[in-house]
Amino acid sequence: MSQRVAGTVVNGATAEIDVKRFYLPGTTVSATCWQCGKQVVHDFSNDYLSYPTANAPQTLGLYCRACEAEMEVQIVLKVSIEVVP
Ligand SMILES: [Zn+2]
Repeated sequence: MSQRVAGTVVNGATAEIDVKRFYLPGTTVSATCWQCGKQVVHDFSNDYLSYPTANAPQTLGLYCRACEAEMEVQIVLKVSIEVVP
């Protein structure tokens, strides 16, 4: 018989995620276009990260459909493990 016990976790630093298309349904990144002021949205339900590195900053390119401006934001995909009661 297995008994549930209290565990402790040490999370590592960065980790490469060996997934070609990593979607995050419901997660979006929004920014204001530096050129026209419209809202630009990157929706991870449709636009995936390819082989992301967890817990390290990475550049996300954004494109404004209204004025065709390109911009970028820095994002971090956080992955950690925690013990729950
Ligand atoms: Zn724009």
